[in-house]
Amino acid sequence: MTLTGTDLKTIGHWIGGASDTTAERFGDVHDPATGQVTKRVAFASEADVDRAVRAAREAFAGWSAASLSRRTTVLFRYRELLTARRDDLARIVTSEHGKTLDDARGEVQRGLEVVEFACGVAHLMKGEASEQISTRVDSSSFRQPLGVVAGITPFNFPSMVPMWMYPIAIACGNAFLLKPSEKDPSAAIFMAELLAEAGLPAGVFSVVQGDKVAVDALLTHPEVDAVSFVGSTPVAKYIYETATAHGKRAQALGGAKNHAIVLPDADLDVAADAIASAAFGSAGQRCMAISAVVTVGDDTAERLAAAVVERARAMTVGPGADARSEMGPVITAQARERVADYVGRGADEGADVLLDGRALEVADHPDGFFVGPSVLDRVTPAMSVYREEVFGPLLVLLRAASFDEALDLVNANEYGNGAAIFTSDGGAAREFRHRATAGMIGINVPIPVPMAYYSFGGWKNSLFGDLHVHGREGVLFYTRGKVVTERWPQRASGTDYGFPVMGA
Ligand code: NAD
Repeated sequence: MTLTGTDLKTIGHWIGGASDTTAERFGDVHDPATGQVTKRVAFASEADVDRAVRAAREAFAGWSAASLSRRTTVLFRYRELLTARRDDLARIVTSEHGKTLDDARGEVQRGLEVVEFACGVAHLMKGEASEQISTRVDSSSFRQPLGVVAGITPFNFPSMVPMWMYPIAIACGNAFLLKPSEKDPSAAIFMAELLAEAGLPAGVFSVVQGDKVAVDALLTHPEVDAVSFVGSTPVAKYIYETATAHGKRAQALGGAKNHAIVLPDADLDVAADAIASAAFGSAGQRCMAISAVVTVGDDTAERLAAAVVERARAMTVGPGADARSEMGPVITAQARERVADYVGRGADEGADVLLDGRALEVADHPDGFFVGPSVLDRVTPAMSVYREEVFGPLLVLLRAASFDEALDLVNANEYGNGAAIFTSDGGAAREFRHRATAGMIGINVPIPVPMAYYSFGGWKNSLFGDLHVHGREGVLFYTRGKVVTERWPQRASGTDYGFPVMGA
């Protein structure tokens, strides 16, 4: 059954601590496993964004004055509520994104770890102090919140990526405005409701749903102080340039083409397991997915290709809510066409198609956005399937004659999010760690996502700005420093300091 218009549940904004479904424009939300429109999402106008920013600005005054322990009490309560409801949130993610429930649970867990990190903000915001920098002069430093900060997030992690941002922003005393992806907007509202239940004052966390209209309103609003963005590279560049041109602090994380180098001395079974799951998990729609493998030596290439294809062929593709599925659908029909188009282009440009996922059909789900895993061998750096980010279950294999040639490929790529090496040679691993131009390095680890207490971010066209997200850099991004120099006159002994006396 196709639902239309007002039959559909409307996912609205969350402004001033309440749901708000009024809008002049709406977008469709699909279940990627069935291809059906299941909900509609309100698209914010400039006036809606202005309303949300004003409510946030008002809330900022009280929240930034709240004690550190009051702020962390709310976060501790939120952590408990989210832990109890993590499965509900994972189901919401699966119903709109399509990833398997296990994957969705994993992303909620990684987000929760940032909430836990933010519970320690009292320690993280401590400054420094020096006594007697000159005679009777002392100096100290501390950090203060910025004000109203916005987060603009992609479809592929609708709960985790917002949680990279708002727990730290809020813990530091800011008011946070989230503009989630219009493709899977419900997770944001679920989290807003839980934050309210945890006791977060109205207006400290808000959600404006929508598209470029909402984004542009945030980027140009004079009362927005900082913008965090995660998404594709062209949009990241636009966000960074526009936000900074309007006087805002900005960090914009972009796309990726993450490489894994496999050396002849690697344990190929371990490498093939890791690469198949990193390439096809979440249907290849992870910013840290391995999408290009560079093998050193023809023998390594042949053996690894056979092992990866065997694993990819055995993967069960199906609806994310079905516990038997190892890989779900991609996000939209257009995304499926895009993946299929790249497989065709790769073949036309001369790659060997070892596994072709284009014809995959999933029983009882004829309209779902499914495409099976594809593996292309003998890909060269000139091919578009290598140069461009595909963001789907498509793995390309390149061959190099030496470690240096393989590393040169990694370093010549325009993206620099993650890069991994599989080897049993400590010297080669160290050389790779030192010379690879990527922000996150894996050694026999395919997806080296840093824990919450480290910072996540890439190099080159994978990040515009300087500070990475979460960890210490997250705290630095959402605060600004102040240094105080003070001198107090010496009082003669016996001076009355005017303190109240007990009982007086
Ligand atoms: P996207 O760039 O299309 O959208 C991201 C956000 O920007 C969404 O909220 C969207 O509504 C908004 N947006 C889209 N087009 C816009 C425009 N022209 N002007 C203003 N705003 C716009 O990204 P996506 O398709 O949702 O997510 C996938 C992309 O995100 C991939 O490129 C992936 O590599 C990247 N990503 C990167 C990281 C990272 O850590 N570097 C993490 C997750 C995803």
